[in-house]
Amino acid sequence: MNRDPGCIFCRIASKEVGAKIVYEDEKIMAVEDVNPQAPVHLLVIPKSHIPTLQDIGDEESGLMDTLFQVIKRLAKDRGLSEKGYRVVVNCGPAGGQTVYHLHLHLLGGRNMKWPPG
Ligand code: 5GP
Ligand code: ZN
Repeated sequence: MNRDPGCIFCRIASKEVGAKIVYEDEKIMAVEDVNPQAPVHLLVIPKSHIPTLQDIGDEESGLMDTLFQVIKRLAKDRGLSEKGYRVVVNCGPAGGQTVYHLHLHLLGGRNMKWPPG
């Protein structure tokens, strides 16, 4: 497992730093966002340190599939399947990424606006 000791999500994955973990398996975890932007705001995070979407290797092509399977399951658990929800991946500085360890935001429980800010 690729780990960066200075990375907050790696430190959450290794349980050095606490977080409200709502799903976990060998490769993936999902946590409550510490600064929620919607009634449901979860982060689905591969445990391995991959800085951005652009850094997903060709040999890891199945990773996003797996992350979206977890999104789907969590959305169902939180009662979002019918009304809908939003999935966001911020990538790089212009994308508004602040934590450089790949993660998907699952946002729901309110109506989302378009275009995003
Ligand atoms: P980004 O802007 O990189 O797409 O999103 C990073 C997200 O991580 C933000 O929504 C921010 O609130 C969340 N975050 C940052 N630090 C922590 C932390 O220590 N714990 C948790 N649970 N979320 C965090
Ligand atoms: Zn990391």
